[in-house]
Amino acid sequence: MATLQGSCQCGQVRFEVPEEWEGSGFCHCTTCKKLSGGVGTANARVRTETIRIVSGRDLIRTYQPDEGTAKSFCSNCGSNLFGFGWPESEFTSVRLSAIDSPFDRRPERHGYVRSLAPWETLPDDGLERVD
Ligand SMILES: [Zn+2]
Ligand SMILES: [Zn+2]
Repeated sequence: MATLQGSCQCGQVRFEVPEEWEGSGFCHCTTCKKLSGGVGTANARVRTETIRIVSGRDLIRTYQPDEGTAKSFCSNCGSNLFGFGWPESEFTSVRLSAIDSPFDRRPERHGYVRSLAPWETLPDDGLERVD
């Protein structure tokens, strides 16, 4: 199974994740907008146990919003790395923006489209929309 390398912006947090994802999609929820500074996050869903933190484990902070699952980021540079409750959850949403290795797979859906911002336009990409 191919292993992909991932990192945060400052490079102190490094991790590995298998390319065999359960699924992949964009999340347009209000929390992902806040933490991404844009329209949301792009994620690959993997089993949490398959993620290997190579370095910087002590820099990773986890924030639990009032609604939704915990989100984890590098406390030095602020890069968002994991969602969906890492490290306790069975599955983790790995932010595609954190993966450095090239990969062929593309997101399959747009999630939380009910949280679309007035300034946001969904691309006409034919992907499934999930409310
Ligand atoms: Zn960092
Ligand atoms: Zn989200």
